[in-house]
Amino acid sequence: MNYFKEKIKYHMPHGVLSLYRKLRYKDIPLSKNIKTRLGCKELENYASFNYSNGNFLFGFCCPRPGQVNTPKVIFETNDPKQMAQLFKTGRDKLISTLDSKNHPCHGCNKISNVSDTALKPLTTIQISLPLSCNMLCFYCHNSIPKRTNAQIEEKKKLDSFDYISLFKEFEKLGMIDNKTKFNWASGEITILKQRHAFFDFAKTHNVHIFCNGLLFSKDLADWFSTEHQIGALNVSLDCGTAKTFERMKGMDKFEDVKNNLIKYGSNRVKEKEYELKYIFCEGYNDNKKDILGFIEIAKQANVTKVMMDRNFHDIQKPLSEHMKEMCKYFCETASRFGIRNIIRQQFSDKDIKYFSSYTQNK
Ligand code: SF4
Ligand code: SF4
Repeated sequence: MNYFKEKIKYHMPHGVLSLYRKLRYKDIPLSKNIKTRLGCKELENYASFNYSNGNFLFGFCCPRPGQVNTPKVIFETNDPKQMAQLFKTGRDKLISTLDSKNHPCHGCNKISNVSDTALKPLTTIQISLPLSCNMLCFYCHNSIPKRTNAQIEEKKKLDSFDYISLFKEFEKLGMIDNKTKFNWASGEITILKQRHAFFDFAKTHNVHIFCNGLLFSKDLADWFSTEHQIGALNVSLDCGTAKTFERMKGMDKFEDVKNNLIKYGSNRVKEKEYELKYIFCEGYNDNKKDILGFIEIAKQANVTKVMMDRNFHDIQKPLSEHMKEMCKYFCETASRFGIRNIIRQQFSDKDIKYFSSYTQNK
């Protein structure tokens, strides 16, 4: 029965599928006979592990400009066992009190009626520790302009934390299972002392690594050549010339990164996706020379796809005509080189539709 339901869902025309999603996830009773409660898909499926002001914490959705407060569980301990227990209690409480006016999610339009079943294991754990990064991108999600002494001290704490024990405690409490996906997102895994243990863990879990490509890491290359588990490596290169690289990332290391990308590509097994990202930043990389240089590197590194994205700080602004022209050129160039191109959701639905008409994904 479920098989047929899934079949019907995935073969629906787009308009019908979108209506199905609206009905499924909006604030309507699922059925008179099914007991419902308030819920949120992000709160129940996703958790982002961060570090701020001396404390580790989990946030439950990705904060975007204009969004209400992201609910969090903040830890005053670094003990993995206690942290896992506190996380479980904190998340259960946040879910069971969603109807309260003082709740951090109050007013969010992602709250809907869901069937009142037991909580399932998390589908995604995101790890975002941008203090431990060796680059200085001007557009960094967490706006790191330069390294301060306090940040260097904090980096030591991130280096000594036992991430794997924390995930094992989560497993024991049933909050993650073998389907849970781990995204090592902002923060540079290749410079963290715990990377050996993490890449060992990654050989048996579904892991998506986001790194900046500045260093060639043997741990990362070994994991990328391990067939046993699916996973992905994503690098934000964002340009195709040394000059733009230096302006965007605060260092003259374009050639090193380019060579590392090609070396990582030569280690890849088919179980792993290899993604190269281009974050469009007005006045920096919105030109044909950078786009062409980038696509040529993507080809040499044998990536499985490129991704077009927008500067996080600009997403409230509509795209200028010039930027639209350059994004279109990016889509056409990727198609010409036979490379799959994913248009990320930082673009508006209208822009995605427009650029998709210039994208040929085989
Ligand atoms: S703020 Fe909104 S999206 Fe985030 S966890 Fe709460 S209800 Fe979900
Ligand atoms: S590589 Fe990522 S985490 Fe590091 S500074 Fe750049 S955007 Fe920030």
